[in-house]
Amino acid sequence: MNHSMDSSSHHGPRSENTIHINRKARPRAVLALATAGLAVAGGVLAQQRPVARLRGYSATSSAAERQIEEKLGAMISADEARRWHRLFTAEPHPAGSPRNNELARIIAEEWKKQGWEDVIIRQYDVLHSAPRSVALEMVAPVLFRASLREDAYDADPDSSNPRVDSAYLGFSISGEVTAPVVYAHSGNPEDYALLKQNGIDVRGKIVLVRYSNPYSYRGFKALTAERMGAAAILIYSDPAEDGYARGKVFPEGPWGPESHIQHGAITYDFIVPGDPQTPGWASVPGARRIPIEQATSLPKIIALPLSWRDAKPLLENMDGPEAPKDWQGGLSIKYRLGGAVHVHLQVDMDTSVKPYYVVEARIRGSELPDEWIVMGNHRDAWVFGGVDPSSGTASMMELTRALGELKKQGHPPRRTLVICSWDGEEYGLTGSTEWGEQFAPELREKAVVYINVDSSTSGPEFQPSAVPSLAPLVVEVSRDLPDPQTGKSLYEALRGHRARSESRDTVADSDLVETRIGSGSDHTVFLNHDGVPIILLDFTGPYGVYHSQYDDFYWMNHFGDPGYRYHALMSRLWGTLALRLANAEALPFDFAAYAAGLRRFVHDLDISSHLRQHVSLKSLDRQIGEFEAAGRDLQRLTEAALDRQPLAGRNARQINQNVIRVERNWLDPDGIPGRPWFQHLLYASRYTYAHLELPGLTEAAEAGNWKLAAEQAGHIELAVKRNTALLREARQMLTGTVSAPESRSGGKK
Ligand SMILES: [Zn+2]
Repeated sequence: MNHSMDSSSHHGPRSENTIHINRKARPRAVLALATAGLAVAGGVLAQQRPVARLRGYSATSSAAERQIEEKLGAMISADEARRWHRLFTAEPHPAGSPRNNELARIIAEEWKKQGWEDVIIRQYDVLHSAPRSVALEMVAPVLFRASLREDAYDADPDSSNPRVDSAYLGFSISGEVTAPVVYAHSGNPEDYALLKQNGIDVRGKIVLVRYSNPYSYRGFKALTAERMGAAAILIYSDPAEDGYARGKVFPEGPWGPESHIQHGAITYDFIVPGDPQTPGWASVPGARRIPIEQATSLPKIIALPLSWRDAKPLLENMDGPEAPKDWQGGLSIKYRLGGAVHVHLQVDMDTSVKPYYVVEARIRGSELPDEWIVMGNHRDAWVFGGVDPSSGTASMMELTRALGELKKQGHPPRRTLVICSWDGEEYGLTGSTEWGEQFAPELREKAVVYINVDSSTSGPEFQPSAVPSLAPLVVEVSRDLPDPQTGKSLYEALRGHRARSESRDTVADSDLVETRIGSGSDHTVFLNHDGVPIILLDFTGPYGVYHSQYDDFYWMNHFGDPGYRYHALMSRLWGTLALRLANAEALPFDFAAYAAGLRRFVHDLDISSHLRQHVSLKSLDRQIGEFEAAGRDLQRLTEAALDRQPLAGRNARQINQNVIRVERNWLDPDGIPGRPWFQHLLYASRYTYAHLELPGLTEAAEAGNWKLAAEQAGHIELAVKRNTALLREARQMLTGTVSAPESRSGGKK
């Protein structure tokens, strides 16, 4: 996974001038009162009551669904999750390694035993990158040889595993250079501007930059250094970001010790993810491949990660101008911009085509086999993958065990569940991208949702993200699950930590789920390329060993999730969401919430770029308003209908088909300007992996290209219009099925 979603940038404050849907006004509240038997004061229901009728379910089917979800919850075991976790973290398993391929076979065998159907291992032949040898020495003013290794600790037997690789960055080019070193802070464009002001040119030199502060994806740092003409880039972990300045370090605490190295790839997958030689199509064996020189996602710079212990001698021997205050880090030295330090760097990478393996399985839907609930987690890890991704893999295996068991007990889902173990996520979201490209037509026809779990657990803080139409469902489900630490509901826990992190007294339900979504994990192809709505789930906490060898079983058992309760909670949460969507009579999407989200995106963009001064958005505003009204209408009528009777038959299927097609309508087949692979009009990511809403419109506005901005706004407007029509059509089908409800919720409009 990436860290674009670190706590500082993840949940920023939202604008307040948005319309929230009052979910307490839903008609099912009446039923809830009857069953729950809770006291009513002045017509207002008590806050924490169980909901009797679920969104998208009639009373009868709600009761059945609740029973199934409870069964699922009872089957999931923290001890089993721990057992799975030990299996996956036992050995290093980077993409392309024999161990990672063996784990693919193990997962396939387990899924068969668990009762999953159509288990298949799909092979993709993709460009891979692995180290042959790396070396770094300071040659002046003093001699020093970097260890490029992480220390072993007696407390953690895995830390002395001889099969752990030395430092390397995936898709660094091979090469050898001796050159002066310049400290370039975070390696973002503004940092080079400051160097230039100080008369420092980095051309032909080696830049030393740190991870984070502010966050940017290491591939963006590499691209920036490449554009500046640097000969190589060294990226080190400063203790200010993830080491002793944050708290106790491994093995006494969760933060990174002196020798910890953040591995990673530097692929330019923000331009196009997946195999760099098959942009836009699948790397099935024998597929056409473009020449390496034409691959836009391949870096052209030598790159290496360093621990702070290896970086410190370089930094402290510099004698150039003192770096500015906010460039000073956590080491007790004076950080300088450069001078005196020369290093010799040698990196030899094997860059060649290797097979990656995606494991796929399904439980075929009993009634609607051609509507798919897709779930996935990546298998490959930089080293042991304690958090990233084996916590997620453990949660996934415990989930599939429970879902298989449910099926064996005679409770197959109505819709088909599809699950995938991705490969090569860490190299460029590769396995999921190739799979999502291979099955694009089928996914665009059948996929209801994609639920991604990369890391499941680095601590107890729930960090959900979703497209706005699914955010209310995530909130609803969070009310039904217990938070192990506080004993309250997951919903209360989420509200609590969101309020704390934003220093607010209270957080509205509509702000609990992050709807601004960047890249950096396997959801990317689904959302940005295939137009499949997504939910991303994660529990987080203090975590300073990301992509290092200390991200392992010991770390998880001492710091991340010692009792594996959050692993188990993730299995349950993931499964509950999947089943809720799989079994619903009316798919529980909330398009009024999507409209509100879209309005917020437009508003935020206007604040940052003064778009409205240059482009009229009146018509777009109006269309968003109509989309919102159509969404609210459809939902109200659907819930009113479900209040009376189950929804079934051909009409229900047609209505759901329209609902499924909404996300597809956000796709522009031409893609966003300059990045044709990214087809979603509302979502892409910046080159840093940070979230980027209304990407075509935003980038045009930021470039001051108002003609292009107007054109992009027009594309969005058309898509909104198409979706309003879809929802209105669904509403007509609904009122055709059931008699027009003169219901307590306001009736037909
Ligand atoms: Zn990951």
